[in-house]
Amino acid sequence: MSYDYNTCVIGAGVVGLACAARLASRGPLLVIEREWKFGQATSSHNSEVVHAGLYYEPGSLKAKLCVEGNRLIRDLAAEYGIGYQRCGKYIVAIDETEKVYLEWLKNNATASGATDLRWVPLDELREQEPCVRAVAALFSPSTGILDSHGLMAHFKTQAELAGADFVFNTEAIGIRHLPPSTTAGIKGGYSVAVRDSYGDESEIICAQVINAAGLYSDRIAALAGMDVKALDLDLRWTRGFYYTMEGGQKFHIAHLIYPVPDKSLKSLGVHATIDLSGGLRFGPTAEYMKEQTEDYSFSNDGLEQVAESIARYLPGVKAEDLNAMMTGIRPKLTRPGQPARDFYIREESGRGLPGFVNLIGIESPGLTAAPAIARVVAEMAQSPTAARD
Ligand SMILES: Cc1cc2nc3c(=O)[nH]c(=O)nc-3n(C[C@H](O)[C@H](O)[C@H](O)COP(=O)(O)OP(=O)(O)OC[C@H]3O[C@@H](n4cnc5c(N)ncnc54)[C@H](O)[C@@H]3O)c2cc1C
Repeated sequence: MSYDYNTCVIGAGVVGLACAARLASRGPLLVIEREWKFGQATSSHNSEVVHAGLYYEPGSLKAKLCVEGNRLIRDLAAEYGIGYQRCGKYIVAIDETEKVYLEWLKNNATASGATDLRWVPLDELREQEPCVRAVAALFSPSTGILDSHGLMAHFKTQAELAGADFVFNTEAIGIRHLPPSTTAGIKGGYSVAVRDSYGDESEIICAQVINAAGLYSDRIAALAGMDVKALDLDLRWTRGFYYTMEGGQKFHIAHLIYPVPDKSLKSLGVHATIDLSGGLRFGPTAEYMKEQTEDYSFSNDGLEQVAESIARYLPGVKAEDLNAMMTGIRPKLTRPGQPARDFYIREESGRGLPGFVNLIGIESPGLTAAPAIARVVAEMAQSPTAARD
């Protein structure tokens, strides 16, 4: 039996695409995507912020890969003309208690390698953002905004130029580990069962699998035989809503404005984000979902509270100013009320699945970190020679 592909990447979101771009030159690679096009799930339902790595535990994958990804995205954007603006962000405290958090954040960011975060005199904040109210503020010059679709299209082109194949409308429905066999002439690998949109099923034999299935990455790991519940790797989804502002840029915001987030980092707080076309959006909210169904419909429940939370730092914002815009769903390993957990990125030889790489819980800052995640995956993944000998 021979391999159809050296590597199967499951999922064509920004992470799967970044991995495909990195790995395609090493040997035949297939990306399997259940949607009709790349980037239809979480990768196109987010704030498109290139984070600087301020909030995460120093030394964690989130912190390290965010700082590295921030730099890589800036370089990629410059080299390939991907839409990107290093607009900077203010993190604002509206009372003395929140100011204490900013002090902690400054130290945390420095320990994580995000060394350019600085205190801003209030007259400077007033000059730059006259509509914002704060008793103290930090400024992160290396936070930016990105055309996330442009970044994904770039990764896809790079992967294709290196020979990668893509199948869309095709879902991975089963994974069987093939142990090494001299009689079958195979060093070991995987059979990935797939079903297309006509209901036709087939099987792909490959040496290694990259599980980049986002919201479903825990289920893909379970298909490969991992007991994700026992391993505490089953995902909880949180849904967040975004709003645009009635009457456009009534508040003339020129930078990203973030409030102080809650301790569990369930979200970074309902922030004000500008986009590359100068539009202003607020969000996302964050609620754990009772039913884990990919439901992107919008609800205006809680709109008054959302407006109140924005008005704390942008006085005058009212519920009637806000319009429904978009819904995003986060794949979280963090349990309600528990401290934030890190990305799970691991090659699973230790669990009897050599060449199976799991990427689970890739929530924010996953867009920023994607190119750095791909570098780590490329280090973990086998070389084609090792896989095929
Ligand atoms: C509300 C919100 C705001 C965010 N804001 C930011 C931000 O400003 N900055 C930042 O850095 N990060 C942000 N993030 C995080 C970032 O969007 C994600 O970390 C990133 O998009 C994850 O990419 P992914 O490729 O892992 O997942 P996805 O984009 O979800 O891709 C996974 C793909 O796998 C496919 N798939 C699933 N199951 C199967 C299967 N069985 N077979 C085949 N294909 C399958 C899916 O269709 C999907 O296309 C935000 C996330 C959310 C939800």
